[in-house]
Amino acid sequence: MEKERGSKLMIYDSENIFAKILRGEIACDKVYEDDFALAFNDINPQAPIHILVIPKGDYVSMADFTASAPAELIAGFFRAVGHVARALELEQPGYRILANSGANAHQEVPHLHIHIFGGKKLGPMLVR
Ligand code: 5GP
Repeated sequence: MEKERGSKLMIYDSENIFAKILRGEIACDKVYEDDFALAFNDINPQAPIHILVIPKGDYVSMADFTASAPAELIAGFFRAVGHVARALELEQPGYRILANSGANAHQEVPHLHIHIFGGKKLGPMLVR
């Protein structure tokens, strides 16, 4: 499925694994869900807490999402990220959110997702 967005042609692969999770075709270990977002545990956790939050819509990346999604969905998605962090009591002692976009960032799944990491001291921001 291809979507024209402004001057940029974004291609959303509706067979990506997170699209299948959103459609209920593949199971996930759900942490939270509302009208705007789904949060679930990462299948290959990189920290004691490693949750993925995805918007309910066909968005490849943060650039795609913020250019194309309705304001209500953008707000709802980010509120869901904050809700999960609060619900898991991560504000203290702290946590990290991260969103990979494109090849340089090693984005594996072409559906926007925010990683939430917590449960230990997370070390430096980037591995050099
Ligand atoms: P990316 O590199 O795209 O930012 O991260 C993709 C993440 O999705 C990885 O951390 C990977 O472990 C996770 N992942 C890939 N396939 C699945 C799946 O089928 N279920 C779940 N829960 N996580 C997945």
